Amino acid sequence: MNNENNVLTYIDSLPPLCHSLPYVFKGTEAKIENIVVKCATCGAEIHSSNIRGSFSLLGQSATLLAYALCYADRTITPVEARFGSSGELLTKGPEGWIQGRWCREKPISVLTKIKEFIQGGK
Ligand SMILES: [Zn+2]
Repeated sequence: MNNENNVLTYIDSLPPLCHSLPYVFKGTEAKIENIVVKCATCGAEIHSSNIRGSFSLLGQSATLLAYALCYADRTITPVEARFGSSGELLTKGPEGWIQGRWCREKPISVLTKIKEFIQGGK
């Protein structure tokens, strides 16, 4: 039994996130154009074609469960975030949910705060 292989097989079966973008909130003008995740190891920007996962609607929030793949150092950065239609953003950090805002014009770097959080805590 190889746990790491199971995880990789699972991630490989997920659709690239770029297939789900732009994400439009039903009945509103709100739209998530793009998502950029920072690699938890090297900080490189990972674009949606290298992020695997998709949105699901949970109440008024779009929940993103995804994995960002950094080919430079083979790091997989898990992403769990909730986007509200009026700009609320919750990203899951090591010790709970972190509040922020997503911006319609700019790419979102969902893990920036988590990374800062990890560095700040040490
Ligand atoms: Zn990296």
